[in-house]
Amino acid sequence: MPPFPDFSNPTLFPTFASLPLATDDVPPNSPPYNLIGTISENMTLSTSPTFICKDPSNAPFALTLRIPASQVKQGVQGGGYDVSAFKKGFTVVVLNARRSGVSEGKQGFVEVPVGEVKIIPGNVKKLIEIGESRKEVERKRGQVAGKEACQACGTEKEEQKLSRCKGCESFWYCNKECQTLDWNERGHKSACKVYRAVKAIFPEAAG
Ligand SMILES: [Zn+2]
Ligand SMILES: [Zn+2]
Repeated sequence: MPPFPDFSNPTLFPTFASLPLATDDVPPNSPPYNLIGTISENMTLSTSPTFICKDPSNAPFALTLRIPASQVKQGVQGGGYDVSAFKKGFTVVVLNARRSGVSEGKQGFVEVPVGEVKIIPGNVKKLIEIGESRKEVERKRGQVAGKEACQACGTEKEEQKLSRCKGCESFWYCNKECQTLDWNERGHKSACKVYRAVKAIFPEAAG
């Protein structure tokens, strides 16, 4: 099974306050400064959609979306841009984030073109929880190449003898019963969507 990013690791996913400024010269060998935050409220006041998000340390920060000029409707809040994907409780991901507007007494914000913001359908706490349970699975599983463990009952078999979740392609099951159990009673129904989103954003990490 491929690894899942460790969203609780502050080196991989730093807090808002530890991001470099947009005006800083960042050395080329620096870590990637990938910012994650749970959307907590929409506080759009101008034509730029703006959301308050909570970073992994639960500190709030403002995320402002830059809408392509040709698509901005002047005089309309949020520029008339459809931000329905930015749901409360979902996680925004900004790769290589920088802080703007920082001055004395002002913590600043993160401003990015709307197309560069990725969304994961679950909050940061859930991402960290999934990472923890994934680590647990990794610890339990055997080290034999080509073998995988059923996510529902833990039985280890050769890959060909298990079936894979077609949604996320990250989990294996003995049979339909095990898969249904995991989907309905063990939370894979919501976790599957998270996995799919995470794999699309971090293909090297989530396989
Ligand atoms: Zn799945
Ligand atoms: Zn099973």
